[in-house]
Order: sequence, then C-alpha cells, then structure tokens
Amino acid sequence: MSKFLELVEQHEAYRKRSINLQASENIMSPDALKCLGTDMASRYSLYEPTIDSDAYGGTRYSEDVLHETEKLSREVFGTKYTEVRPLGGHIAAQMVLLSIVKKKENILSISESDGGYTGYQSGFMPEMFCFQNYRIPYNKEEQEIDLEKLQKVMKSTKPKLIMLGQSFFLKPYNLKMVREIADENDSHVAYDASHVLGLVGGKAFQEDIAKYSDIFFGSTHKTFFGPQGGLIFTNNEDIYIKIEKNVTWRTMDNYHISRVASIGTALEEMKAFGKDYAHAVVENSQKLGKSLHERGFPVLYDPWFSFSHQIHIGKKEKNNPQEFLQMSKRLEENGIIIDREGRIGTAEITRMGLYDMEILADLIVKAFEGEKVRKDVESIALNLRMRYWKGYV
Ligand SMILES: *Cc1c(COP(=O)(O)O)cnc(C)c1O
Repeated sequence: MSKFLELVEQHEAYRKRSINLQASENIMSPDALKCLGTDMASRYSLYEPTIDSDAYGGTRYSEDVLHETEKLSREVFGTKYTEVRPLGGHIAAQMVLLSIVKKKENILSISESDGGYTGYQSGFMPEMFCFQNYRIPYNKEEQEIDLEKLQKVMKSTKPKLIMLGQSFFLKPYNLKMVREIADENDSHVAYDASHVLGLVGGKAFQEDIAKYSDIFFGSTHKTFFGPQGGLIFTNNEDIYIKIEKNVTWRTMDNYHISRVASIGTALEEMKAFGKDYAHAVVENSQKLGKSLHERGFPVLYDPWFSFSHQIHIGKKEKNNPQEFLQMSKRLEENGIIIDREGRIGTAEITRMGLYDMEILADLIVKAFEGEKVRKDVESIALNLRMRYWKGYV
C-alpha cells in the first residue's frame, strides 16, 4: 500500500477515536467529502465572468458547479454578489484588501494581543501590500470595541478600511455604531468572519453583517462545515467588480472545481439545517463554559463565557508560554484535541451530536488533572453520529 494511503488511514482511525474541540476545524458530511475525491479534482476551468467564457474545454459540468454554488451562497448569506473560488480565508482577505486599500493608505484591525488575526499585523499583509495597520481600540475585559476611542483613532489615522473580525472571537460587534463611525470618516467596513462564517450562515452570530458591512468573507472550514476554502460576500457592485479583477492571475489562477462542488454541498446543508446547527453550537459553548467553570477549570469571561463557538482558557502563570502547549498535550494523550493557544471550540462536536456538556467537562477536567480517561473518550467518540446533513434521519 502507498505510504501516504497508510498515513491517511492511520490519521482517520486516530481522529475517529478522538473528540475534536479545535475551534478552527469542523467535519464534512460524507456527501461534501465525496465531492473532493472525484475526477473534478484534477480538471481545469478558467471561467472569465466578464466575457462569459472558459479558457478550457470539457467544462460544461464544472461551470454548472461554479454557478450553482454562487447562487446558493447568495441565497444562504443574503447578498447580491459572492465570490466562491478563494483558496482560503487568507486569500479571500488578500482579495478584499487589494480591492479596497491602495498603497500607503491606512487600515485599522483588531490587534493580535486582543485576539485579532496575525495576517493583518505589520510585517504580514500590510508589508506585502504597502499599507499601514493600526490597532482598533479594544476593551479586553468586555471583549468589545471601545467606540469612543475608535472615533479618536479614526481622526488621527484616517483609515481607508476598518477590518473587523478575530481569530479569538467570542462576541459580535456593535456593527451599526462602527458603520456610523466609518461613514462619518469616509471609511469602508470589512468583516473577516473566518471563524464564525457557519454561525453567520445559520443566523446565530452578527445577524446584521450584510446590512452594515461593505463586504464580509471567511474560511469555509471553521464553523462553516465545508472543505478548506474561502467565500466573499457583498452588496456593493463597485467593490464586487474590483474583487473579480483581483481573482484570476492576481491571487490565484485556476479554481478547484471539486472543492467548489464540496462547498456547494455544504451550502445545501447549511440552507436546510444551518439554523439548528448554529444555534446548537453557541448553546453548547455556553454550556461547556459554565460546566468547566463550575468544576474549577480556568475559563474566561464568567458569567457569559461566549456568544460564539469558542471559549477561552485563562493562563495560570502569565509568563509561561508553554502552558497551553502542555495542557493541549495532556488532553491529547486522552483523545481530547484542542489547539495550543488557549481556545476550545464546539463546532465539530455539535455537528457530531454531542450535547452533554457536563460529561464532556468532567472528561476535560479529569484529563487536565492527570487522570486517564482515554477509554471513556473513545467510547463517546465512536458512538457519535453526524447530524445536520441529509443522511441523518
Ligand atoms: C483562520 C483565519 C484566517 C485564515 O483562514 P485560512 O482559511 O486558513 O486561510 C483569516 N482570518 C481569520 C480571522 C482567521 O481566524
């Protein structure tokens, strides 16, 4: 057998026996997964919307895949325009920035120390595209933008764009107010919903996102349960035209037809089951936060804990960078997977139908305290059945 097929099989057997609480991950339905392993995975299609033509032949079904996915994504997210081809949330972010911000202009984004995305910090995308990034004033205790200070920063930095969204993301914004402040200062509002895209699609987080942002986008594999990729949404025709210009030969060449088919499948599932799914995800993270807190586990933001799929762990020792790594490793020895940055996510367990957060909290705390709970974790994991797709009845 191929070395790689062997590794893939080992990985699958390993993950099947684990409970995955990684906030950036999710699990695809068998239907969405099947799309990835078909003939489409090695085909080309270079569809040019402006001239309604394709540079390649044999694309009659690939183009249907693209257009049906676009149609469905407009329907599910309620915008006039969408772009479904980006290879990831990061590439979608590049398309958005290239379409709105020019060289030497300023943007504002949430700083990394407040949970913002690393890609927007100086040294990464700002350096690549020659613009400046400044910090959005943020109240960490409340996990809210400091709107009063934001007004002042707008005056001093005159940003072309306010980039909202976080990688450590617990609470929706007062988006109406941010919009007003942006309008007063001739600035655009973009919203990186990478982590929360599935919650947005299911109307359980930032329901006013299409109303008050100029453009929003995100990854298709975090709370949105599709394959790895990115989606962009806007109601603004001028911005959309620029986005289209920044896709082919700027941020990518061909798009991945099989992946887009898989996103289309996930959109079908989101349309049918997204509301139930997304609300259950948020309910699970609130319950898990409370249950862990009651057991003395250091969860942040008592008493509300979360309005998203994430809960955040507090550090015991401020200056120990190893703490989250050690915690993650200890849990992983027991079949419980979390990241090494202090986040716990409930998207995947919810999709797998795990709703008893008391039992899960018990296992996490026991593993954390050094007890061996691997057998219990395995027996729970192996008995879960995926929900929120048409194969679940
Ligand atoms: C994960 C993340 C990204 C990058 O997404 P990819 O799909 O991995 O490219 C961008 N922005 C935010 C806020 C993220 O959390």
